Amino acid sequence: AEFSDLGLPEWAIHICKALGITRPTPVQQHCIPRILAGDDVLGIAQTGSGKTAAFALPILSRLAENPYGIFSLVITPTRELAYQLAEQFRALGSPLHLRCAVVVGGMDMITQAKALMQRPHVVIATPGRLKVLLEQNPDMPAVFSRAKFLVLDEADRVLDVGFEEELKVVFECLPKDRQTLLFSATMTSDLQTLLEVSANEAYFFEA
Ligand code: AMP
Repeated sequence: AEFSDLGLPEWAIHICKALGITRPTPVQQHCIPRILAGDDVLGIAQTGSGKTAAFALPILSRLAENPYGIFSLVITPTRELAYQLAEQFRALGSPLHLRCAVVVGGMDMITQAKALMQRPHVVIATPGRLKVLLEQNPDMPAVFSRAKFLVLDEADRVLDVGFEEELKVVFECLPKDRQTLLFSATMTSDLQTLLEVSANEAYFFEA
């Protein structure tokens, strides 16, 4: 398959080409049309499989149609991964003037809270810091109340660190009618439980 067969808009195909992304990987071929169709997705795929673009491209395509408020929340286990995700979102989202905020530990919390109050399109966060921000600022949960997408990236690692309590706080701030996209390198029973509490019947893809 080609990117042009997956339902993505022209601008997205062009930015991929400009970034040297010319042929969709299996996770992209299978997940992009389902995400564009509005389905929840569980993708079992390794780093290097192209999983980031598999969720970033359809999210950005939907965002381009209606850029109101915080559109997407992406949860990832580590700071380093958060910055890598932001880099890919910014590159793929450059034609949209994407506003993307990174919320991780070790950085000034007041600055992060201010950035969130500006309603960026995409928030990329580690669970610990996001929980603290949500709990310490009375205005913060409402900022996420109209989010359209929740992504749990490297979900098995998020669960390994024991972030269930943090995730619970985050889920409570998100609207029920959001789309949930889980990506994980492995399928575990904890992941199955997370899927049940966070997603509707999800399209399952294993690389
Ligand atoms: P990921 O698996 O999301 O960590 O992506 C690994 C790397 O592959 C990133 O640097 C992407 O820019 C790149 N990439 C993603 N999709 C493709 C593709 N279809 N063709 C070539 N490179 C890609």
